Amino acid sequence: MFITLEGIEGSGKSTQIGLLTTALERTGRTVRVTREPGGCGLGQTLRAILLSLETRNLDSRAELFLYLADRAQHVAEVIRPALAAGQVVLCDRFADSTIAYQGYGRSLDVALLQQLNDVAVAGTWPQLTLLLDIDPEQGLRRALARNLQAGTTAAEGRFEAEHLDFHGRVRDGYRTLASLHPRRFVTVDATPDAATVAARVWDVVSQRLGG
Ligand code: C5P
Repeated sequence: MFITLEGIEGSGKSTQIGLLTTALERTGRTVRVTREPGGCGLGQTLRAILLSLETRNLDSRAELFLYLADRAQHVAEVIRPALAAGQVVLCDRFADSTIAYQGYGRSLDVALLQQLNDVAVAGTWPQLTLLLDIDPEQGLRRALARNLQAGTTAAEGRFEAEHLDFHGRVRDGYRTLASLHPRRFVTVDATPDAATVAARVWDVVSQRLGG
């Protein structure tokens, strides 16, 4: 089963992926945890470029193609083989991030992005997408606290410094996607503490996996 987690910065995706992995492994399943950008060798190089300060002024279309290149290789090299081996794939961000960030956030044409996503994904769409939904102000506050704690420099924190209205547009994009694809998306309120969110996530996932 292919499951993706989506949400703005500070929505708690990494924490929830960790907790969900433990819960799934307890049921005897093999879990392949991966992420975008950076889920394969090529992707790690692309991630370093995408998140570096030097490419702060990267043209939105150039940025788009780097995300798409990462996705195409990631699907071919990691996701599809793991699914073929019967593993549960948990992916931190996937094609919906492109629609939310490059489309709603950076105003690229959403219909065109959908077509490009189709090319990159080549039929491998997630069965379940968990949208961790949180108010941008709260999300950014969490992300900032995490970065300070980790001693993360400005380079990794680049995107978090972006304006609140950008993250508000990204969140709106995600919510629109969730309403357009109600069978694939489940929206989870990411405001409560991690354990509460994890319990809700597990309810959804265990139900999809058949109890
Ligand atoms: O999920 P993670 O926070 O590691 O993603 C790295 C950053 O890349 C995010 O902060 C997000 O702002 C940005 N991003 C983006 N467009 C995408 C995917 C991620 O701008 N399609």
